[in-house]
Amino acid sequence: MATREHAHVRVAVIGSGFGGLGAAIRLRREGITDFVILERADAVGGTWRDNSYPGCACDVPSHLYSFSFAPNPAWPRNFSGQPHIRAYLERVTDTYGLRPHLRFDSEVLSARWDADALHWQLETAGGSLTADVVVSATGPLSDAKIPDIPGLETFPGRVFHSSRWDHDYDLRGKHVAMIGTGASAIQIVPSIQPTVDRLTLFQRTPAWVLPRADRQISGLEKWLHGNIPLTRSVRRQLLWIIRELQVSAFTKRPSELGLVENIAKAHLRRAVKDPALRARLTPDYRIGCKRILLSNTYYPALAQPNVDLVTSGLKEIRGNVLVAADGTETEADAIVFGTGFHVTDMPIASRVTGANGTTLAEEWKDGMEGLRGTTAAGFPNFLTIIGPNTGLGNSSMILMIEAQLNYLADYVSHLDTLGGKIALNARPSAVHAWNHFVQQRMERTVWTTGGCDSWYLDANGRNTTAWPGTTAEFRKATRKVDLAEYEVLRPPHERVTALTAPAATTTGATA
Ligand code: NAP
Repeated sequence: MATREHAHVRVAVIGSGFGGLGAAIRLRREGITDFVILERADAVGGTWRDNSYPGCACDVPSHLYSFSFAPNPAWPRNFSGQPHIRAYLERVTDTYGLRPHLRFDSEVLSARWDADALHWQLETAGGSLTADVVVSATGPLSDAKIPDIPGLETFPGRVFHSSRWDHDYDLRGKHVAMIGTGASAIQIVPSIQPTVDRLTLFQRTPAWVLPRADRQISGLEKWLHGNIPLTRSVRRQLLWIIRELQVSAFTKRPSELGLVENIAKAHLRRAVKDPALRARLTPDYRIGCKRILLSNTYYPALAQPNVDLVTSGLKEIRGNVLVAADGTETEADAIVFGTGFHVTDMPIASRVTGANGTTLAEEWKDGMEGLRGTTAAGFPNFLTIIGPNTGLGNSSMILMIEAQLNYLADYVSHLDTLGGKIALNARPSAVHAWNHFVQQRMERTVWTTGGCDSWYLDANGRNTTAWPGTTAEFRKATRKVDLAEYEVLRPPHERVTALTAPAATTTGATA
């Protein structure tokens, strides 16, 4: 077993999606080859491996939704479909020589900090190992959330989640109940509507939907991007800048988003002629409060005669009858849950036990808190890619991941420079200062003031997922590790050194 060959590694990366592969590439670039990538499945790709539902595609243009250091001049469309993104990640894995580091079927069952040895003890489905540093890149959209619906076990038909599509089940001629109206559901609905006999959509909250400016990328563009790299980078920069300029409307001046609501309303009017149906599809909260959805086919599909819209959440199931909160009853052959993911209660957090003997989930019971979205107090040498408050509402998460990779590179270089067996532990005061800064900024954002409930918010209504700034600001804040924000741990027989200044109070991001 590969993990036994490597009983100890310098770095254990958990997950092989964009975050995990990116971390691995960056480690290699920093000259570190003593690492493994622990993957619970049998292939790379993360969310782009798991989500294979009909119509699955990305809402961020591919020339921005890809690594800056691994451009793909051959993207077929503005918004590539899941198969192309997955194939890209497979290619990146080969190009950067990551295969020897991959440990498939190695779900991390537990990770426990050993304070004496100053390393992590990991138990995985593929064996045990220890690691000086753990990079958790499990992603916030990896563990499917199926609501606890009374009677679900009595349903005699097929049930699956959008991210675990049952490709063996033929939907033709079936009555399918689709639960949810998020980014996944609105891609599934138009893809299956022509095939199924009936489709009943359970909409608890209508979504704001904008036109999707998708098109094929021409042969000439591909040639230019392949042969004149400047054209590729200009394209990427333009895509980036446009999105950076939109940020202040989300974070500081949500009233400006009213203009965008008019575009969405016109989009709805064009596709749905029935005013009663239109009214049921019109949101009553500010656009951007929930993720803005892009589709040219969702509304037209809802206007088809074989589609019923139930404007109420699924509340109960009695055999093959689905009961909505408003009492509407619907018979169905299959249920597809497009009900999202465990974002603010990531299952990996309950498997990670830190220096105080408590799990990350216990530490985060009142809400996730990280230092610069990456580390947490009491969890030395444990970095999370796409950690607390790193999510974006309008741009490419790859930009945030790459910013965190800079932080990772600087982190491991500090471990080298400081020398010996050491670990860095985020100071609680630094974590507090960072979160105070983030939460203060959060107050004016559309996610706080927009009048909706969303997966950005945790059970206490606090936004612990989104980044209330531009990607440039986050990049600046994570360019370097500020050692004043960490205590340096040394083995018990050596002196425990508190470095230089006490806690940092600056954040490094401009307010
Ligand atoms: P989601 O955005 O969390 O949506 C979950 C949906 O399920 C919501 O509409 C929610 O309603 C609904 N729901 C939950 N319980 C329900 C119940 N009992 N009855 C009826 N409806 C119920 O999940 P998602 O669509 O999988 O998307 C998650 C994230 O993945 C996205 O925000 C995006 O970041 C990413 N994603 C991106 C793309 C893309 O790029 N195109 C595609 C797919 C996913 P409420 O709104 O009332 O809570």
